[in-house]
Amino acid sequence: MSSAHPFSRRDVVKTGLAAGALAAIPVLPIAAAQKEPAVDLKKHPYIDAHSHIWSPDTKKWPLANGKTAKDLDPPSFTPAELLKLANSVGVGRVVLIQHTLYHGYDNTYLLDAAKAHPGVFAVTGMVNDTKPEPGQAMLDLFKRGVKAFRITSRPGIGASGGEKWLSGPGMAEMWKTAATTGQVMACLIDAKDLPGVDAMCGKNPDTTVVIDHFARIGVDGTVPEADLKQLCALAKHKNTYVKLSAYYALGNKKPPYLDLAPMIRRLLDAFTPDRCMWASDAPYQTQGDNTYQASIELIRGKLDFLSAGDKEKLLTKTAERVYFTE
Ligand SMILES: [Zn+2]
Repeated sequence: MSSAHPFSRRDVVKTGLAAGALAAIPVLPIAAAQKEPAVDLKKHPYIDAHSHIWSPDTKKWPLANGKTAKDLDPPSFTPAELLKLANSVGVGRVVLIQHTLYHGYDNTYLLDAAKAHPGVFAVTGMVNDTKPEPGQAMLDLFKRGVKAFRITSRPGIGASGGEKWLSGPGMAEMWKTAATTGQVMACLIDAKDLPGVDAMCGKNPDTTVVIDHFARIGVDGTVPEADLKQLCALAKHKNTYVKLSAYYALGNKKPPYLDLAPMIRRLLDAFTPDRCMWASDAPYQTQGDNTYQASIELIRGKLDFLSAGDKEKLLTKTAERVYFTE
């Protein structure tokens, strides 16, 4: 005990000093100093804004949509496996994304992972917008720390996937609720869905919206100018963001991914680095020639138009502001 604090708070309570005197005594930082910090930000400064996880223990965490352990590919990608990869390239925090096919609307596995690794993971969950009161479900999950919700146009994935994915009353309620809770609408979409998202952003200007994987522009190997223009046009809504991610699936689909540089540059011009964030989309970005390291390396070391400050935003600051602040 330091001589500056001759007695502990408990001693003060025991001796019955007035509450005012108690309040005036600073809380000793001993507990904090003794606890391991959740993330060593010097060693692992970066944030991966998009990764999935799943467990081979499907008894403890059952799979949805009729999937079994045999469907898991890779068969295991646990928080420990993810963090081993992430930490090896300086990534200390990760935004976990609900795996729609494996876990459906059961967010338990991600919530358990976040609880077991405080400060390390932020959770993007899912709620069913075709069931009653999705807004209440969002609030319940807000209390459990869920920062964002995956919504998607992909048929057979979202409850109302397909053409009308954005037009139901449940979806309207979700966007409205998100504006009050600060939770993010995280859009897994294709370029054809951009006009619909643009309209929803216009109706919900206070809702934070993050577009996954460049709206999958480049998935067929080409970057159509009209699509890229539409994506860039979303930047006029001040609460929209883009994930620069899933390089394994876009353009040439091979490291070092330099063919994606012109698209990245256009997005940085439109959104600024304050509204763009790097993400891996592991474990998909960890197969064959595509590696976790090659993904972060594109942003960290291969794009000469990025300043050190830009990189800090893309690799840490933007995602930190959106997902890791209270
Ligand atoms: Zn993903």
